Amino acid sequence: MSIKLSPYLKEVEELYEKINDFELAVSLQNKYSPVEGMHHYTKEDTRSVIDALSKSLEFNPGELGELEDAMRSGKIDFMHLVHENETMPEEERQLLYIMSRPFFKSMKNAVNVDDMFWQDGRCPVCGSTPSLSVIEKESQRKYFCSFCGSQGHFMRIGCPCCLTENPQDITIITLEGEEGMRADTCGKCMSYFKTFEGSMTAEHSIDSLDIMSVPLDIVMQEKGFKRNSPNPVGIIKMNQD
Ligand SMILES: [Zn+2]
Ligand SMILES: [Zn+2]
Repeated sequence: MSIKLSPYLKEVEELYEKINDFELAVSLQNKYSPVEGMHHYTKEDTRSVIDALSKSLEFNPGELGELEDAMRSGKIDFMHLVHENETMPEEERQLLYIMSRPFFKSMKNAVNVDDMFWQDGRCPVCGSTPSLSVIEKESQRKYFCSFCGSQGHFMRIGCPCCLTENPQDITIITLEGEEGMRADTCGKCMSYFKTFEGSMTAEHSIDSLDIMSVPLDIVMQEKGFKRNSPNPVGIIKMNQD
């Protein structure tokens, strides 16, 4: 693959590395499960997550104090990231998303429902609409959740966002010189998701593929399509400013 590194992509890649460090540094004491309905970290886990976040993302001491207080007093509900993200200020939403990644992964591990059919095109663990899919052999498509990492199946042709099954609503867009990836767009709800060829997952994780294909997001959004859920660094709307 031959994506030219724009300064923006380089920034995103650096942030992605820091987020990986953060996730490795967090060790949660509590397990979270969608069944229990707890949508934030316990007190002990809040401490550990804030410490790891400050270190990996180089926040000044105390800078995350407000966030820590809000978390401890139960004011934060990670499910809002999935269902009410459009009303949140962008910076706050991005930081909360990064912070929530160990939480959502713990939820996935609690119920592991990989390879199921996704009712209504949504992740069965956290209810989010996918932004990524992989076409496997025999043209089977698998979707990936951008919050918890669950993977599952849905209609082969159709939009997981508005559920149209009309093939005329769906257009596939590829970028010249970018092999193995494309965007599936829906003209009905104006959303898109990115699709990778199965062979690409042999070398790269789905998160890395999402980051490497940021240029495709930029082009799709310039064309007026919207992404359904954040990328691994918490970005939904690409912005080159
Ligand atoms: Zn999920
Ligand atoms: Zn649609």
